[in-house]
Amino acid sequence: MTANRPPIVVILGHVDHGKTSLLDYLRKSNVASREIGGITQSIRSFQLTTTNNSQPITFVDTPGHEAFSQMRQRGSKVADIAVLVIAADDGIKPQTKQSLEFIKSSNLPFIVAINKADLPTADPDRVKTQLMEYGVIVEDLGGNVPSVKISAKTGLGIPDLLELIGLLTELAPATADPEGGLETVVLESRLDPKKGPLAIVIVKNGSLKIGQELFQAQNIGKVRAIINSDGLSVTNAPPSTPVEVLGLSIVPEVGSIISDNPIISMPNSKQTSHELNKPDSQLNFIIKADVAGSLEAILSHLSPKVNIITSGTGDIIDNDILMARTSNSQVLGFNLKISSSIAKLAETEKVTVKSFSIIYELFQYVDELLHPKVTEQVIGKAKVLADFKINAQRIAGCHCTEGYLDKNSRVRIVRQDQVVGQGRIKSLQQGKAPLEKAKLGSEFGAVFSPFIDFRVGDDIIATTG
Ligand code: GDP
Repeated sequence: MTANRPPIVVILGHVDHGKTSLLDYLRKSNVASREIGGITQSIRSFQLTTTNNSQPITFVDTPGHEAFSQMRQRGSKVADIAVLVIAADDGIKPQTKQSLEFIKSSNLPFIVAINKADLPTADPDRVKTQLMEYGVIVEDLGGNVPSVKISAKTGLGIPDLLELIGLLTELAPATADPEGGLETVVLESRLDPKKGPLAIVIVKNGSLKIGQELFQAQNIGKVRAIINSDGLSVTNAPPSTPVEVLGLSIVPEVGSIISDNPIISMPNSKQTSHELNKPDSQLNFIIKADVAGSLEAILSHLSPKVNIITSGTGDIIDNDILMARTSNSQVLGFNLKISSSIAKLAETEKVTVKSFSIIYELFQYVDELLHPKVTEQVIGKAKVLADFKINAQRIAGCHCTEGYLDKNSRVRIVRQDQVVGQGRIKSLQQGKAPLEKAKLGSEFGAVFSPFIDFRVGDDIIATTG
């Protein structure tokens, strides 16, 4: 049965305006966790129970860095209410504007918290006037946006802020069915060397329970343990609780949804725009990154024309290579070392695997596959007629249909108008004899470097450069 659940509140604002300090202050004032005390909390999101609040409030922490604006955008989708923190001595800054855009685009009720009101340089009135330029009129100026002067340092105005949150909740209560289908949103995720994949999720509907099977597009594990924001192990997490989940077989993406049923279409804009699992006429990738933040940044900036088969954090492992082989994908890593055993497996499985330490270079690599340079000059073309192996080397048996192909020529492999790989011709041969140049009309064998998973029927385009 649907019932009211605690509101989920997200704190947004420019860096250094006091989001963390506010969360810390609130956390310290938490009646429930003060009783427990002394436990190291790994979850920065938490549920606040105050003496005068009948309903607890869940505060969700979102990363502050600009590059991860996508995550913040999702943060606001997770939330029922936003608190926009603006430092009274600094006013509206770029991330304040961004936060306002997120709030407006997601139609989120919000409160302006003018922080650092304890400072002698604080000028809350200037902040209120500045806000008018962005179409936000606070209540004391005749508008309908509640605002409150606070100090995350001294605690000034914090009870008023909590009261405002209570009022907004009364106006639009958040609801969920604790017995209904499970819907949780991933707030943070990482690979723990000892515990395996870990995710901090917030329950939006249903209840998370020990032993429950978890799903995204497919089964991703079984709940082995649930740790609440006080660091305690629990057996059940009802709606609006942020908890850490153990027992996952993958590191799920930040912002993605975990359910107790396979999720057919992810309501995650990025994933739908990448059109999961389209046939292989597209460029397919498996993306791995060191941490969820960089993974998120990569996924949110990749062209929607590419197809992400799967993605996650942590080292590139055997499974990634095997999945790449079956899905005809390339494996791209960010800030990861490719171990020699993985490199070897990739070679035998004929999978392209690359790692980048600069995000821009990863984008450039993908871009070049999508939009091959037009300034280059095509010197010749060939068609792949056969696919054979000599001394464990895969050789493309080709017929030169235009111009010529040189040893060391730069080549692109095109399948159904899509570039499926690029590299250079490492060696050319005719019969058993090595060849420097394959001429128009001739048949020859070619080996590419790096490895390209060509197929019979592919076109090879050789270019200068
Ligand atoms: P965030 O980047 O938005 O999370 O900001 P922080 O919470 O890290 O705060 C940035 C700096 O401002 C820190 O040095 C805080 O101690 C200081 N700060 C935060 N809130 C207040 C406040 O209400 N009053 C004063 N005087 N300093 C504050």
